[in-house]
Amino acid sequence: MIVIMRAGATDQQVDAVREHVTRLELGTIINRGVERTVVAVVGATHPDQRDGLLRLDGVLDVVPISRPYKRASREAKHENTVVTVGDVEIGGPEPVVMAGPCVIESEEQLVSTAKAVKEAGAHILRGGAFKPRSSPYSFRGMGEDGLKLLQVASRETGMPIVTEVMGTQDVDLVARYADVLQVGTRNAQNFLLLDEMGKVGKPVLLKRGFAGTYEDWLLAAEYVMAGGNENVILCERGIRTFETYTRNTLDIAAIPVIHNLSHLPVIADPSHGTGRWELVVPMAMAAVVAGADGLMIEVHPDPDKALSDGAQSLTPENFRRLMDGVRAVAATGRMNRNSVARVAPK
Ligand code: PEP
Ligand code: MN
Repeated sequence: MIVIMRAGATDQQVDAVREHVTRLELGTIINRGVERTVVAVVGATHPDQRDGLLRLDGVLDVVPISRPYKRASREAKHENTVVTVGDVEIGGPEPVVMAGPCVIESEEQLVSTAKAVKEAGAHILRGGAFKPRSSPYSFRGMGEDGLKLLQVASRETGMPIVTEVMGTQDVDLVARYADVLQVGTRNAQNFLLLDEMGKVGKPVLLKRGFAGTYEDWLLAAEYVMAGGNENVILCERGIRTFETYTRNTLDIAAIPVIHNLSHLPVIADPSHGTGRWELVVPMAMAAVVAGADGLMIEVHPDPDKALSDGAQSLTPENFRRLMDGVRAVAATGRMNRNSVARVAPK
């Protein structure tokens, strides 16, 4: 349920609503908007509780939240969430670019890539130390040694780090090094891992499951938020369809749809979303025009020799082209996240 306060309701009246809800053993999220304050009531609510809330001073209306995801929904919080990582704002006015190799292979490979992407304008360094690979015989990452190299590259370039955590047993270790913890597509419904992400105290980048609906994805975010972590960044990375030419089908429509349904920022990963490097630049530009709050891009100094995902990795030179394209479309034709939410039907 959402309790809509009258314009000019006092802090005491809002507090009284919060106390009333707490006595019902439910949680509250209080959003003090410019025009009015809205108190979202979360938990197992019952329609009988509406009348008691309506009788409280300062309450204008009490309406149900129709979505199964409460904290993540735009109904509960109209204002956009901006996730801050160091001095980078994800969900702010400019698209944020996270770039780096699929997997960390060596200091030389990582640091040279980090310097190149930073110089081209990337904001956050990506790189996998724990890799989910379809085959157990593929290179599965350097583990903690890879995390240490991320730290070196981060110090050299000043970029914060995003890296994947694959299982609950690695959360503390990865959280010691990472600025943003990534939950991969294969773990998009690993509810025990999502519970841990609720407690981790760092922003979480939550990839869409490759067979996940929007609702599955937002309910995954709800797990993290219900655990106490509101700093969730959603990442559209392509879904599995009948098409085999591309590795996945990047669902560009997901960007305005999620901006409509949720206040959380959404980024796009056209590298995994297409699996083909030559499609990464056009799809990155399309995602930015559709209003993406950022991009995740795989870059390798020599893609032909990459130990993972070379076919979808950009060379540093192609990454510079991508940044030029992104800057051009961001300056002229980017869909505004607020206007998507404003025109959205109820
Ligand atoms: C990745 O970004 O390194 C990755 C493995 O992505 P996904 O989970 O989307 O496949
Ligand atoms: Mn990859």
